[in-house]
Amino acid sequence: MGVLSGPVAVCIDRPLLALDRPFTYDLPGELGAGLGSVVQVPFHGRATRAWVLGATDDVPERMLRVRKLVSSVRSFDERSLVLFRAMSERYVAPLATVIGRAVPPRVASEETSIETPPPGNRPLPTLGTSPIDAYRDGPRLLEGLRAGQGGAFVVRPAPTDEAVAAVTCVAATLAAGRTAIVIVPDADPVPVTAGAVVDAFGADAVLFLGGDKRVRYRTWLEIAAGRYRVVVGTRPAVFAPLADLGLIYVHREGHPQHRDERSPSYHVRDVARMRAEIVGAVSVLSAFCPSLEATARDHVLVEPAGRPWAPVEVVRPGPEGRSPRLIRALRSATRAFVFEPLRGYGVARVCRSCGEPAACASCLGMLRLERGSIRCVVCEAPGRCASCGATDFGIARRGAERVEEWARGVAAVPVSLIGRDDPSRAPVEREVLVGGVDALKDVGSPGVDLVAILHADASLRRPGVDARERVLVTWFEAAAWARPDGRVIVQTDAPNDPAIQALVSGRPDRFRRAEAPRRAEAGFPVGSPVFRVTGRAELERELAALDPGTLLSSNVGGTTICLVALDAARVPGFGAEMRRLAAAGIVTRVEAEPHL
Ligand SMILES: [Zn+2]
Ligand SMILES: [Zn+2]
Repeated sequence: MGVLSGPVAVCIDRPLLALDRPFTYDLPGELGAGLGSVVQVPFHGRATRAWVLGATDDVPERMLRVRKLVSSVRSFDERSLVLFRAMSERYVAPLATVIGRAVPPRVASEETSIETPPPGNRPLPTLGTSPIDAYRDGPRLLEGLRAGQGGAFVVRPAPTDEAVAAVTCVAATLAAGRTAIVIVPDADPVPVTAGAVVDAFGADAVLFLGGDKRVRYRTWLEIAAGRYRVVVGTRPAVFAPLADLGLIYVHREGHPQHRDERSPSYHVRDVARMRAEIVGAVSVLSAFCPSLEATARDHVLVEPAGRPWAPVEVVRPGPEGRSPRLIRALRSATRAFVFEPLRGYGVARVCRSCGEPAACASCLGMLRLERGSIRCVVCEAPGRCASCGATDFGIARRGAERVEEWARGVAAVPVSLIGRDDPSRAPVEREVLVGGVDALKDVGSPGVDLVAILHADASLRRPGVDARERVLVTWFEAAAWARPDGRVIVQTDAPNDPAIQALVSGRPDRFRRAEAPRRAEAGFPVGSPVFRVTGRAELERELAALDPGTLLSSNVGGTTICLVALDAARVPGFGAEMRRLAAAGIVTRVEAEPHL
């Protein structure tokens, strides 16, 4: 670790766009600090934390001195700093914010006890042939990993191969003497794929998810010290300080949890690709139904040569979403999953006292009957009529509780409902399980007889630019629970919808071809960065002067909020402008990739 002295650029730990530039300080050599060191500097008269970014020629007339070295641990190396800078630029976020997300909060007492790495040369587990060898372009992916080459791949595993695809890729990476990161969308329960990787690589692998501050920081220090060759974790694992990185594998890449809701609101899929390009590693984005974003950029698609999916039958819903074919199938199924995206037992249609259409007395929202009580779906207030205050409503029955009820009258085996607060699981033998999106996690490949998808049409009509894609991803995840010789029944009045057709054919590419023009028409073409900018009234004119591809503006209580979509190549210039406007007090907040 190089020790610096003399003028150095530092990043002040103040997450403000207006201050998002390097400041120069004089670093005394005897501190032993260098790139990535946490130091303390005087800033506007106060002792402030900062990170050393490197030596600089940009020396002001009056230069203050770095006061002290805060920690002997370096927060990042040169290549990580390249990544952080690229993220700061791409997401128009202060560098300090990016570093604050990428490096876990320090627990000083853990720094004294970092164990030295064990001697290397641990034998690699021998893995037999993998089904990925037989995939289209599977050998190309595995040879690329074994040769330690870079490259961007999208893997669409067969339903039974989801975990083995990740294990195979990691094994090939370790065989090349390099290290690997596997990123999963959530920690609870630990996805089967994450468990499979940790099991396969034993002491070489570490789970980097959840845990308290102390455990997280200790694990991070151990990773930095070279104790592990495989890191498996949620979003922050994409920054894991592994040396010789050969693979970043993103499991279920379209999952909403892969996006950080806080600034810099990055998507882990994009950061994985950025980091892989910087360090010359392979990036793999894995999903049953890859997103438009994953496939919009150059990549090699790796997928099974044949059709590994159960056949999908399309039927009209029938009264209350009960087609005769579904009823017959449920009667004979011994292990089935019924996907019903709506919660509860039904929605209030009309007030029984005054006859007016039902609406929440507090906010006019929709009222839903769930677990025996009626509540507003918007504000959660107890259901009272907006017109007369009465609490008795005519109910239109629909939702998972109602499905559970009627399925009990049909199925030959017990029926259960998986609620919002229940741990996600697949149906067991002799069970029909009713559940929504929360049930569909990576619990392995349960191999059920029957998967039924209800309320398909209402799901496809949900608002949101990428709502249709999310729905299709969910359907594919549900369909993956069926045995290859099982059956999937989807109930729809729109059998020709490209999303339905994609599910039936087992090929999402057709859907993506239909969806891309829709997004472009809405003003948000796939691959175009989007920002929500908040600020003063002048903001709209300033943004219009930049002539972005799309500019939508609204005014809420004296605050101007603008949605901007622009060409990726123009983001650096846009970011520079936002930093200038932030310093002028015109921009108060920039959020990248907001929900649309
Ligand atoms: Zn309400
Ligand atoms: Zn009423």
